Amino acid sequence: MNQKIKKINIDKNLCLGCGSCAAIAPGAFQLGNDGKAELLPNWQKTEDKELTAAVRSCPTKAITLDYY
Ligand code: SF4
Repeated sequence: MNQKIKKINIDKNLCLGCGSCAAIAPGAFQLGNDGKAELLPNWQKTEDKELTAAVRSCPTKAITLDYY
């Protein structure tokens, strides 16, 4: 286990609902009924590099990561 990401935070006020994070890391993010990104319960099964790629893809930097 080389997971270094402890927590993922999504600021729904910043999220535009573009779907980029969900397209890159579909095991971790999806668009909810409100059209904004939400975190899936099994996100920790997604590799860190995929998570960081999804975070980088966000146009408004709505997603931030906490590390161990
Ligand atoms: Fe929202 Fe950013 Fe995900 Fe787009 S990439 S859906 S703006 S959190």
